[in-house]
Parts: sequence; structure tokens; C-alpha cells
Amino acid sequence: MPEYCEVALPVPLDQFFTYSVPDSLAVQPGMRVIVPFGARQLSGVVVRCGTSLAGLGTTAIKPLKAVLDSEPALSPELLRLARWLADYYLVPQGEVLAAMLPPKPSVRRKTTVVLTPEGQRALLSAASADSVPSADSVPAVPSVAAVPSVPAVPAEERKLMERLAKRGGIRRESLRDLGPLVQKLRRRGWLALEHTMDSGSPGHKLPVWEQEAVLPQFAMPFELSARQTEALATVRRQMETGSFGVVLIHGVTGSGKTEIYMRAIEMVLPQDRSALMLVPEIALTPAVAELFVSRFGSRVSVMHSGLSDIEREAQWRRAREGRSQIVIGTRSAVFAPLDRLALVIVDEEQDGSYKQDDAPRYNGRDVAIVRAREAGATVVLGSATPAIETRYNAETGKYQLVEIESRIEDRPMPETTVVDMRQEFAETGRQHYLSRRLEEDLALRLEQREQALILLNRRGYSAFVLCRSCGKTIECENCSIVLTHHRRTASLLCHYCGFERPVPRFCPQCASEHLYFVGEGSEKIEEALHRRFPEARIGRLDRDTARGRGRAGAILAAFRSHELDILVGTQMIAKGHDIHLVTLVGVISADIGLAHPDFRSAERTFQLLTQVAGRAGRGTLPGEVVIQTYYPDHYAIRAAAAQDYAQFNQQELRFRKLMHYPPFTVLANILVKSQSAETAAKLTGQLARHLESQQRPGVKILGPAAAPIHRLKKDYRYQFLIKASGRRLLREVLVSCRDFARAENFPAASLIIDVDPQSLL
Ligand code: ADP
Ligand code: ZN
Ligand code: ZN
Repeated sequence: MPEYCEVALPVPLDQFFTYSVPDSLAVQPGMRVIVPFGARQLSGVVVRCGTSLAGLGTTAIKPLKAVLDSEPALSPELLRLARWLADYYLVPQGEVLAAMLPPKPSVRRKTTVVLTPEGQRALLSAASADSVPSADSVPAVPSVAAVPSVPAVPAEERKLMERLAKRGGIRRESLRDLGPLVQKLRRRGWLALEHTMDSGSPGHKLPVWEQEAVLPQFAMPFELSARQTEALATVRRQMETGSFGVVLIHGVTGSGKTEIYMRAIEMVLPQDRSALMLVPEIALTPAVAELFVSRFGSRVSVMHSGLSDIEREAQWRRAREGRSQIVIGTRSAVFAPLDRLALVIVDEEQDGSYKQDDAPRYNGRDVAIVRAREAGATVVLGSATPAIETRYNAETGKYQLVEIESRIEDRPMPETTVVDMRQEFAETGRQHYLSRRLEEDLALRLEQREQALILLNRRGYSAFVLCRSCGKTIECENCSIVLTHHRRTASLLCHYCGFERPVPRFCPQCASEHLYFVGEGSEKIEEALHRRFPEARIGRLDRDTARGRGRAGAILAAFRSHELDILVGTQMIAKGHDIHLVTLVGVISADIGLAHPDFRSAERTFQLLTQVAGRAGRGTLPGEVVIQTYYPDHYAIRAAAAQDYAQFNQQELRFRKLMHYPPFTVLANILVKSQSAETAAKLTGQLARHLESQQRPGVKILGPAAAPIHRLKKDYRYQFLIKASGRRLLREVLVSCRDFARAENFPAASLIIDVDPQSLL
């Protein structure tokens, strides 16, 4: 029996805390515990147990308060993974472990009616007055004799109190008929209500995959195509080696990657091993989760942030207890408690949502690969537009590469037209959201009863508000960001911190009334389409319309069942939707992302355009794409229009090499922030002096510079970009910064280290 244990706590300190284990408690590494911490109580995870304090200070070690698990919540494998994450991303292990576990379900309260000590006394004295002591059913109450006098207890009241005494308390619901009586006795102080937590919620509606009655359907819907068969064979060969390896399936949109994933998972099941599949966003691709559930039934657990805490805990528990062998989920599902992992799939591996933008700032794809390496499992990365780094790893032999260059059944790739909006303006003399070409094509699709997707990657009505008198734009109070105009709510909104204000009638700077609304968002495009095509059924999918659980799914379901002809939206409409009646995809402004001051802006634009174009013509009807842009010559737009990954990759690699960006270097972003502009500048200066001492061959330090968003959520922000030729060098510099900040007592959370940043804003 361990007498001491070390506990990782979710505090920003890079150490464990030692507690003693009372005789009444049993602990093992991986169990969750409650411990005293200063004046607070915290829940943490036991990482080590021991029988002696050898090597530890012996002063005033406090005992554990409680152990929350009867079996370890985290396996030794996941504890090792946590160590790796903490080390690689320079975060305290306690924070990593907290992120790995499902949040504690917010349990329902249950209300019980109980006797108060006064009530017990009253009952006892009433009973002794009858000289019928019922000592066995009434809990002993000290000093009954000391109670001088009690009012007489009428018959009805006494019956209820006896019932309560016997059962130790009764749920309030079961006493509903006696409501007035309970009230009366409560007022007298004889009864009280006790609120406790109730985690078992029998009335709770289970999601479809949680219902054990769902049976797997092993009926194979299609013959695999030759290319699918080859891809699957490569995965199978890798799995048969029984050791770690990564296969990149680089297959164009509509090449049937999902079916390959499902067949690969089928190979795992008979071996009694498990499979994990990460997808970017389940709320946006509910059809994919449904497909897996219909194929594998209740062997699947689905984990994503749209679940309630209770559902999430239930899914997690099924996997932990081995009741499900397959987990499909978003980023944090990479920590799913699966044993004997044989296969890890990361669909759309390039997707930015795999990167968590809060501590711990991990990339789910990269953690998936490390987890598979530890487990000796096979990794399948799938994408139509692999991240430049991933493709590079495949080309340099680190990953195996399978390319699928044609769609299922050789369905044609969509035909693409680029509309130069400068020329459109020159020829028509009007500034219109829809080019003549896109308008004609939409009219045609509506006539043919086909469907169209219209992408504008900015929500809201107008992009921003400009004063024509003083030339100022209206900015957020907390961020150096212009506010976006939302017409439905008649407000100006910050898309970064959520700050909202009513649309002003006068300029807040100069009180002029000449306010000018500039640029368009999805809300305005939807309106313009309604005006132009009044008979069409038009829906919109963006963060505004998708607010609220199940909203995104409902809008997509309506589009899928052809209750809508046109769906307008942000990048949410570009995700893996497979809707066969969609024959037209229009991109209103392909340029929005290109303006981002980020070395990945070209790559992101290329990926988004290729993705959304890939939604057209996936069935038997051929598809068409119209891309409107002011920069028709930009290489990202040209390559996307030509559906030419190789061309883009070549240009982008040249740029990355020239500018010393990944895959030729490894990157970290160090951000210094404070709500006080002065403190932010002071800390930045201190760190800059320290970093000067860290100059060494193979390391380039850029900065300090004001972050592209200099002020965000009230913080003033500066950044340093560290480029290094290798991981070891990068780590040395980062560790020195962390230690420096600690030694100099930087305020907590003023230093953020982002390893492999996805965004430099
Ligand atoms: P991707 O993920 O590569 O974009 P999907 O897996 O969504 O492509 O497949 C595209 C479409 O082709 C889907 O409708 C899918 O059901 C269908 N499909 C997949 N494999 C086959 C096959 N072997 N034969 C016929 N249709 C298939
Ligand atoms: Zn003004
Ligand atoms: Zn803001």
C-alpha cells in the first residue's frame, strides 16, 4: 500500500506536489484525487506512488482528501504521453493532465426531505409520551431529556416524520401530494431540504451511438475502386508490420478516402485492438459520424465539444471500460482512453482546428502521431490539401505516400472560372457582389433544380464602419480590431473578444453623421441573393446562425434534403460535406485570407478554395466553381483554380526556404502580454535583453515587435518569433526564456510560449 503519492495539479507551476495517503484510501498512478492546496481544494492526478519519502522533504505533508476513481482514469501510456506533451510544449504536466480528462459532469441536484434534529426530538418525545419507543428506527439523538417541552404532534404529521426517520430522507418528488404538510413542518423547523448531487440521470436522452441496441451493419456498400484498394493495401501492409509508421493518403476531394478509413478500421476489430479517428469538426460533418455509427454500431464512441458533460463522460467511460473499440472525435479525442491502439486516422490533417489555441497549445495531429509511435500503431493522415510540412515529410521518406488523383468512378473535377473583379468593375461600371458570371450560373442551377454553395469567409453584414469626415474606423474597446457591422442585431461586434455596441448614429470621434459602411459579410450576401433570386430558398451557415446546439446540423440537414437551393456561408460550408446535388460553388471574395499577416496565409487560402471547390460535382452531375478575386495572379488562387497541388507546393516551398519557415526550420512564437501597456513594454524589453544572450548559430530571433493584433481582450501584446534549424536548439532557447521569466517574477500568464504556432496573430 503506497503511503505517499505525487500529484500533478492544474496550476501554472512546473512541479508535482507530495501528499500522504490515509489508510482508508487506496491510490494508484492515473487516479484523480482531491487535495488541499493552500486554502483551496484542488483536483489533480496521481503520477507516482511510493512507500517512503526518500529524497523528499518530510515537513508537513498533508493527507489526500479523497480519491475520485476506483480504477485509474489514465493508463500508464497516457501518463507517458502527458509527460511528452508537457516537455514538448513547455507546459506544466498538471495542465496537460487536466486537458486529457473529460470535464467533470455538471451533475444535477437532487432534493431530499429530511428530519432536522429538532424534528427528531419532537418525534422521540411524542413517541415516549406514547411509551412506544422505536429506538431502532429513530437515530439516537443526544440529550433528549434536555428538551424541556415539545408541542403535541397530530397524527398525520407524525406519520410523515416516522417515514422520514425510518428511511433517513425521502426525495421531494415522492412527497409531492404532501407538499403543504412538508411546508408547514419546515416552517416549524422540524424538516429541512437537503440538496445533493445526482450524476445518474435515468431520464437523460442518449445519443444514437450510446444506445447499445444499434447493431453494426457489415454490409459493404461498394466495391472499392482500384485506387482505394491500393491505398488500403498500403495501410494493411503497414499494420501487418505491427510497428509504428505513417501513411499519408493524399487524395483529391471525392476520391473516397472515408471508405478507406472504414475498411482500415474493419481490419483492426477482429484482432481485438482499437482505432482512433480524429476529424476537424463533428457539428459541421454530422453525416460522417452517422456513417461510422451505421457501419460499426455501438462499438463507436463519439467525442466532441458539442456534447454535454454528462454525454462526454459517458462516451469516455465506454472507451475506458472497453465497451467501444473505436473512437471518433475532435482534437481532444486524441486522449481517448483506448487500450491496444492499432490504428490512428487523422482526417483533413491540415485543418487549423487541430491546434488548441489555449494552454496546452498542442496540435492534435502531432500528438496523434506521437501517441501512435508509443503504441506501435499505424497512422493514416488523409487530405486533399496536405499541410506543406506533411507533404514534405512524405517526399523525404518519413511517411509513406499514397496519391489518388482522380475521383471515384472517374467523376470529373469541377470546372473552374476565375473572375477578375477589377475587370468586372471596368466593364460594368458598378460595384456588385455577384459577378455577371456567377449570377448567370446561379440562375441556371436554380432552373435545373440543382444546389449551390456560396462562400464568403467573413460573417456579419458590413466589414467595418468608416467615418467620412474624420476617416476613423470604429474599433473594439478591448482590441485593436475594427468592429464588424451585424445588421440583424443592429450592432457592431468584435469577432475576437465578443465586445458589442449598438450602431452609432454619429461618429464617436468627431460626431459627424457621415458614417459609411464598408465591405460585405455573409449576412449581406444572403440578402443580396434574396433580392436577386426572390423565388430561391436560401440559407446561411456561419457562427451567427450556428449559435446554439444542433443549429449547424439542422441547417446542413435542410440543405442536404434539398429544402434549400442555396447555402451561403463562411469556411463552415467548405468542410467535408458530400452533397450530390451541389453542382455550383461560388466564392465571393477569394482574397479575404490573403491579407492576414501570417506566413501561412497563402496556404490557408489555397486549402480553403480547394476544399470548397471540392464540394461541387461529387455525384453523377458535373460541378462548376466560380472564384471572384481582385488578385487573379496570386499563386494560391491560380493553383486552387487549376486544382494543382503540385504547382502550389513547389512555389510555397521556394518561399518557405527563402524565408526560413517550416518545413525548413522549426518555429515558436513567444508572446508577452499585459493589460498595462507599460508593463507589457517593460517585460518585453527585459526578455529582449535576455534573448540577445541566446543568439547562437542555427537560431534566428525576430522581434520584439508589436503583435499583428497589438491589443487583444484588453491585453497589450508583443512577440518574438524564434526560428531554429532543429528541435534541440529551439527547446534550449524556449526553456531559457521560461526560466528567465520565472526568475524575474514575470506575472503569471504574461508569457505565452507557442510551439509550432498555427497563427501568428
Ligand atoms: P473524400 O473524403 O475523398 O472527399 P468521400 O469518401 O466522401 O471522398 O467519397 C466521395 C463519394 O464517393 C461519397 O459519396 C462516397 O459514398 C462515394 N464512394 C466512396 N467509395 C466508393 C466506391 N468504391 N464506389 C462508389 N462510390 C464510392
Ligand atoms: Zn468622424
Ligand atoms: Zn475585441
